[in-house]
Amino acid sequence: MTIETILYLAHAEDDGSLGRSALEALTGAKELHRQLAGATFTVGLIGGDVAAAATAVSGCGADKSYAISGPDFAVSRYASDAAALEAICRASGATVVVAPATSRFNRVMPGVAQRLGGRIDTHVGGFSVTGAELRIQRGYYRQRMIATLTRAARPWFLTLDGGVFSTWEGAAAAMQFESLGVAVGDELHRTRVVGYQAPQANAQTIRPDAKLLFVAGVGWTKKQSDGQVHLDDAAKTIMGFVDKAGASLGSSKSLVDQSSEGHNVFSFMSHLNQVGQTGSTPRHPKGLSTCCHGEEPHVVGWRFIGERRAINLDTNCGWAQGKADVLYVADAFELVRKVTELL
Ligand SMILES: Cc1cc2nc3c(=O)[nH]c(=O)nc-3n(C[C@H](O)[C@H](O)[C@H](O)COP(=O)(O)OP(=O)(O)OC[C@H]3O[C@@H](n4cnc5c(N)ncnc54)[C@H](O)[C@@H]3O)c2cc1C
Repeated sequence: MTIETILYLAHAEDDGSLGRSALEALTGAKELHRQLAGATFTVGLIGGDVAAAATAVSGCGADKSYAISGPDFAVSRYASDAAALEAICRASGATVVVAPATSRFNRVMPGVAQRLGGRIDTHVGGFSVTGAELRIQRGYYRQRMIATLTRAARPWFLTLDGGVFSTWEGAAAAMQFESLGVAVGDELHRTRVVGYQAPQANAQTIRPDAKLLFVAGVGWTKKQSDGQVHLDDAAKTIMGFVDKAGASLGSSKSLVDQSSEGHNVFSFMSHLNQVGQTGSTPRHPKGLSTCCHGEEPHVVGWRFIGERRAINLDTNCGWAQGKADVLYVADAFELVRKVTELL
């Protein structure tokens, strides 16, 4: 029987804290530790200053902990991150490495696996342990198929998708970190990180942390009972609700396709909002679909939405065919306005 050494890896955010996905991955790594009989649990942190991150994970009961910090590791740069993570992996002797699927780690982790002669599986959505054998679950073909995989090769790197585990909330405890030195010479400094370019917070409609996904369909742009289209009213109603509810904004394909066809559509909506087979598969506890028909290529993107509700004028829409928990047969303009008032 192989006794595994699990290594949980995380990077500090700019403010020194650990992000949500890092805390979720810690819950996942601890769960793996609980299930894998006799496994050793180790932790590795990188970042500019990892003091706060170290406090956040200190109650996890690691057998050994490593940290690499300093200005060279404050930024997401492939060369310095790969050197730091490789050093931690070698020092820990890890056979299973668990890390959050952040953009920083997604970029570097496959390279680290290559340096260690290991294997990597990304977008891991769950795992199970049978005896001493670890199996992971991963979605393929836009999450339509879930595969269960195992591997004999070690070290085995796993990056965990967000929203799979709850965030780690252990109380702080005394924990000793071994500080590893990694020389960052000129050859690791060739990429200079000059800053971020991000939309303003209020222009950002995709909010992965939101409790609710609010989906708008093409019905918002169609002629209504008075024979007119009401684009301004629709835009105000949609964004009024999304802002008040702190919801994430999703769209059907047909709605976002309209902009590329030159029609008047919503400036706050782009193809990045599209949910579905050729769009995204977001994770949220609840979803509310409005003016969207609920066709299969769209609804397949709702795989990870917990409770599903829809508003549609049509009692025979796709949502009524067992795809929603609750269907409100109503005018979405009126209903969403009313709910926003109540909020
Ligand atoms: C290969 C392939 C991939 C695809 N990938 C995707 C994908 O990733 N994502 C995606 O979304 N689609 C995808 N599609 C397209 C998909 O099949 C549908 O065409 C699309 O989702 C329809 O968009 P819709 O529901 O917004 O529009 P429609 O089908 O036009 O539905 C509009 C709805 O609005 C309702 N409505 C109108 N006014 C109101 C009102 N006042 N109140 C309440 N309801 C109202 C109507 O009753 C109607 O049901 C794909 C298709 C194919 C072939």
